[in-house]
Amino acid sequence: SSQIRALTISSERKDDLPMHVVTGTKVGVLGGGQLGKMLCQAASCMSIKVLTLDPLENCPASGISYCHVVGDFNDGEAVRDFARRCDVVTVEIEHVDAVMLEKLEQQGIDCQPKASTIRIIQDKYLQKVHFSRHGIPLPDFLEIDNIESAEKAGSLYGYPLMIKCKRLAYDGRGNAVAHSKDELSSALTALGGFGRGLYVERWTPFVKELSVIVARGRDGCISCYPVVETIHKNNICHIVEAPADVSQKVKELSLDVAQKAVGSLEGAGVFAVELFLTGDGQVLLNEVAPRPHNSGHHTIESCYTSQYEQHLRAVLGLPLGDSSMKTPAAIMYNILGEDEGEPGLKLAHDLIGRALKVPGASIHWYDKSDMRKLRKMGHITITGPSMNIVKSHLNSMLNNDQSQTA
Ligand code: ATP
Ligand code: MG
Ligand code: MG
Repeated sequence: SSQIRALTISSERKDDLPMHVVTGTKVGVLGGGQLGKMLCQAASCMSIKVLTLDPLENCPASGISYCHVVGDFNDGEAVRDFARRCDVVTVEIEHVDAVMLEKLEQQGIDCQPKASTIRIIQDKYLQKVHFSRHGIPLPDFLEIDNIESAEKAGSLYGYPLMIKCKRLAYDGRGNAVAHSKDELSSALTALGGFGRGLYVERWTPFVKELSVIVARGRDGCISCYPVVETIHKNNICHIVEAPADVSQKVKELSLDVAQKAVGSLEGAGVFAVELFLTGDGQVLLNEVAPRPHNSGHHTIESCYTSQYEQHLRAVLGLPLGDSSMKTPAAIMYNILGEDEGEPGLKLAHDLIGRALKVPGASIHWYDKSDMRKLRKMGHITITGPSMNIVKSHLNSMLNNDQSQTA
């Protein structure tokens, strides 16, 4: 039945895409974190059946997915057994067994985006090689496999030098900065040494970080979300402002780089393209995620079609929705753990208590089992009639303006 449905959704009979394709197709999502949860939330409006695979029984998506399967998305057998229960397979995390996905694809399993896309992206070095071959502008980078090659890269690119793990990176956890040659060995040790697979990037003194979510349907149709600014705290996405406060020229350049990058990858879905804007107006690619992304959380409240619904439409072969904003401005604020355990929870709950009183604020709490420092525990999106008003609401929520919260 898997085969038959896959054919149905990729057929040209678009006018014949009635609700039975929507409700009769099982969408398998590898991963059950907050992105999986928000995919399930979007799915429920149209009664799309989302199955999730995650090692945690009580992961964020588990409570609302159509069927939650406990298993490791890095374990080939678990991925295979899960995929066989689904009509189309997609991801909410790129750190999955992509080699198994490629094998399954050859056996007729429908994976969107394509397994090759996930395999390229999950290795950041391979990703950089791929994009540079496709002429996408990005910071210089070099593989390193011993201290000599690291020192050589240091003298070539200068310091600070960004050192990155090729694989399993997220929230800046696979990155270390060496500010001088003397700091090289401690930075390398902090990342776990050369055995982990490392490469270096030339430091980019960006003035802003931007992001573009690009959606591509099964028919190749493209829709881009507005360019947003992402503001990081300790290498972790912390605040997203939509739309970004940059010139029209920078917006066009960002959309151009993002579309080119996604154009070089195969398969349907939404893709997030993280970008650096330099002082001289260049836009460089940082990395791409083959899935919904933190920089697109705001779309739930601020766009006609959220990135989550868009991703489902894309993988199901439905027409893409309108990705433009329906509110003039939005800010997304990530609730990052400030402390471990109860003290951290208390701070987060106080913040949510204040957010409940802020006009235009929507609260998302992921209900993760452990509160940890700098962990993404939830987020708050504030929409409003102008960026200034949204910013003042954010300040009152953060208690920077006592008069509003007294
Ligand atoms: P994510 O959670 O986005 O997947 P990640 O762990 O993959 O994060 P990166 O996106 O590689 O990490 O880097 C995290 C942050 O570090 C970037 O958003 C940026 O602020 C900074 N950064 C990364 N590369 C560079 C660079 N070459 N020069 C300067 N800063 C950089
Ligand atoms: Mg990353
Ligand atoms: Mg990143």
